[in-house]
Amino acid sequence: MFNIHIEISYIKRGDPMARKTVLVTGASRGIGKAIAVKFAKKNYNVVINCLHSEERLMQTKKDIESYQVSCLAFMGDVGDLAQCEKLFEQIRKQFGTLEVLVNNAGISYIGLLQDMNSEDWDRIIRTNLTSVFNLSKLAIPGMVAQKYGKIINISSVWGNVGASCEVAYSATKGGINAFTKALAKELAPSGIQVNAVACGAIDTEMNRFLDEDELISLVDGIPAGRLGRADEVADLVYHLGYKNSYLTGQVIGLDGGWI
Ligand code: NDP
Repeated sequence: MFNIHIEISYIKRGDPMARKTVLVTGASRGIGKAIAVKFAKKNYNVVINCLHSEERLMQTKKDIESYQVSCLAFMGDVGDLAQCEKLFEQIRKQFGTLEVLVNNAGISYIGLLQDMNSEDWDRIIRTNLTSVFNLSKLAIPGMVAQKYGKIINISSVWGNVGASCEVAYSATKGGINAFTKALAKELAPSGIQVNAVACGAIDTEMNRFLDEDELISLVDGIPAGRLGRADEVADLVYHLGYKNSYLTGQVIGLDGGWI
């Protein structure tokens, strides 16, 4: 009995192959960082990524490793399939397959559609939507083989109702919502669940462009009377990442009653 106990605790601390592995894209800050740290606290190996902010990604890695779990940090563009393939080569070497994929990386674009150029349109489609295709495509074969997997896409209330001056952003998030529902049907027979969290206004750097008056009027319209917090998104994502294998194809609103 005693020996068995020792062996379990050794495996949990020392052998990454014995733990579940989660990939969280866009984890240098904000919602992605909160999700990555939440899974680390729950003893997952955590793979994190971002495009520009190397120092901040390394800080996330340090925070994750303080929970005695393994962390792989990858700088690269999730909108580019070749770079995602490189990431998956490293994941396979270090951890085998993924149990949980969290497609979180995203950018916003504020402005009239008629003033948006094709480069900005392509960039937001690639970053927010093509990335979800790239990473799901690469994660699915391993998940199917093990007949277990959770794909969680971070969407937005604007994907449901649309926002003026955020047409491209709304289109990407609406695309994610339809992608989620369709892929859930395709993968349910393989024991894989696909869900999305449609966030309302969450207090991260993405909203720092708002001035004080804009922020007051935004909060005024939210029945909960405040912005959401990244750790509240992380709690819900973690729940979707390990519980309830009958819950799939859902776009779950997390917006304080806003929309
Ligand atoms: P932040 O701007 O704080 O963080 C975005 C993250 O995505 C950063 O880590 C950034 O990395 C990364 N990223 C951007 N482009 C790429 C790319 N091409 N490849 C890899 N990583 C990339 O945003 P939030 O934390 O607020 O948002 C996270 C998600 O939540 C997004 O999908 C967003 O649309 C969604 N959301 C947010 C809401 C909010 O109110 N905050 C509301 C609704 C949805 P880098 O540091 O390198 O730029």
